[in-house]
Amino acid sequence: MALRAQAPGVTLTPAVVVAGAPELVRVEAPEAQSVSGEWMGRKLFFFQGKQAGTWYALAGADVESPAGPSTLHITAQTSGGELDLGRSVEVHEARYRTETLSVAPEFVQPGAEALQQIEEEKALKEKIFRASAPDPLWSGNFRRPVTARSTDSFGVRRTFNGKLESVHKGMDFRAATGTPVRAGNSGVVVLAARLYYEGNCVVIDHGMGLYTISMHLSRIDVREGQHVNGDDLVGLSGATGRVTGPHLHWAVRWQDAYLDPAKMLTMNLSGIR
Ligand SMILES: [Zn+2]
Repeated sequence: MALRAQAPGVTLTPAVVVAGAPELVRVEAPEAQSVSGEWMGRKLFFFQGKQAGTWYALAGADVESPAGPSTLHITAQTSGGELDLGRSVEVHEARYRTETLSVAPEFVQPGAEALQQIEEEKALKEKIFRASAPDPLWSGNFRRPVTARSTDSFGVRRTFNGKLESVHKGMDFRAATGTPVRAGNSGVVVLAARLYYEGNCVVIDHGMGLYTISMHLSRIDVREGQHVNGDDLVGLSGATGRVTGPHLHWAVRWQDAYLDPAKMLTMNLSGIR
């Protein structure tokens, strides 16, 4: 009971949780030896902050997560036993636009050969996204991957060629072909390959289930397994894969959830690690 009386605090930033938003979970638990958690079916991975007794997890609510109450499960392991820090978190609906687009027909109704390729790439991506580094590899704030104007297009429900519906799970930068694309933060390149929809694609693992993905590149300048620092060149923007024109599609993925990159860029992570 003594432990309960000094029950440590759990803080979410931003405090109001919207579908598609990244969230920094901060736990103050001076007596904790480790902290674990789970939120909407995804495991929370905590690391120790610079300040003693402070633990952090970078998490988020998927763009398609339903509005309503959710339970944030957090447990601190102490020498005196487990401390339950769970609480209810309201997930608010985000109002995303809808739009219609036209792309080459093979991207809406792929042929048999393409379908085979798409299946293989799906398996490859699943494998990559299951094998994130156990420690955070990022440090400080995430930065824009390209010097170009961005469009407010995350979460937009798109209809391609009047048929295919999909939610736009990234941020588009209006970058002309050949514009340098840089790593948004430090991490390890876990995919550098040409894929059917993504075109030339670079995936960077930032650890603990967090990834950034750059698509439609005209050139790739990194190798799989390579460690990159924030601002390192990963390639040049282009128009490969399913596109309507040259641009950089940049996505932030946490486990299987897609988060708004624009919001990730505004998160203050300096001083945390
Ligand atoms: Zn896009």
